[in-house]
Amino acid sequence: MVRSSQLLHAVHSGASSAITAEQPLAARSGWLNGQLVPYAPKDAPFGELTLTCPEGQHLHHLDWRTNESVLLLKNVQRLTAPNPGVMTGPGTNSYLVGDPDTGYLVIDPGPADAEHIDRLWRASGGDIRMIVCTHSHPDHSPGAAPLQALCVAHGKRPPILGLSSAPTARANSEFTPERELVDGERLILQCACHQHTLRVVHTPGHAANHLCLVLEEDSLLFSGDHVLNGSTTVVDPPDGHMTDYLESLDKLLKACEQHHIQFILPAHGYVLGNVWGEAHDARACIAHLKAHRLKREAKIWAVMQQHPEGSMDDWVKHAYDDIPSKLWPVAKRSLLAHVERLRAL
Ligand SMILES: [Zn+2]
Repeated sequence: MVRSSQLLHAVHSGASSAITAEQPLAARSGWLNGQLVPYAPKDAPFGELTLTCPEGQHLHHLDWRTNESVLLLKNVQRLTAPNPGVMTGPGTNSYLVGDPDTGYLVIDPGPADAEHIDRLWRASGGDIRMIVCTHSHPDHSPGAAPLQALCVAHGKRPPILGLSSAPTARANSEFTPERELVDGERLILQCACHQHTLRVVHTPGHAANHLCLVLEEDSLLFSGDHVLNGSTTVVDPPDGHMTDYLESLDKLLKACEQHHIQFILPAHGYVLGNVWGEAHDARACIAHLKAHRLKREAKIWAVMQQHPEGSMDDWVKHAYDDIPSKLWPVAKRSLLAHVERLRAL
């Protein structure tokens, strides 16, 4: 959980009002509300259209659906949980990696919603081999146990994998996996002729027990809540930590270089990215995110200098004057994370 808003999501996912003359070939179109809508590279759905329709075909539907999974690649499906909201955007994205020959790995089963769990199980054809939680927040991990129970009822017992929550986690985010994942380890689904390899990248910052996964064969990054599309990750101390968050972004940037990652699949929002080496590829998305954080931090520092006696309530008004005031209570958590970081520098 915890990111700013559906409001922000709505703003960022809007179609480009005008596709500029310099980039007519770069535009892609997708279906939304029954209409074919053009999007420019800077628009939120562009990465998803590039991944699903690499030749620019008009085949992909962008409406958020919870009743069936969306095929993003032949071995990657996304099933969005029915929990849209201010903190979850269109809902939590659960991902299924695998195929009928290798079986499936589920990333983020989401909340303990019986229908969502049932749909996940059905989308896997009843063959789930592993369940991984990117972190323990209530919109990500509570579905793990009921999903495992459903598998057990049908004769299989996929392990629940992840990282244990730290003592700093809130009560609703306490979590202990059946097996603790190790930074850099590889989770492998395989059959006689091929395999899918997911490499674990520990990325504290949004939550102390947060991890991302690199799907090596397809050069994809599953980013959990560390990188989102259409909203901003909230860093909520003490379990959230701004310096850790920024250092984890650097770590993800390195992973993108190493694996030529083109696309990022976030836990909330559409796929991000573009083809390797083009503007808005995964590296550019992460670099932009870091620059945005540091710009915000510079603004916060200036506000602290101008209002040295100010309270957090005073500072949030000035430092986040570009977002609606109803989001300030959430922004105040990230503000605190920046203030703690600035005081420690
Ligand atoms: Zn989340």
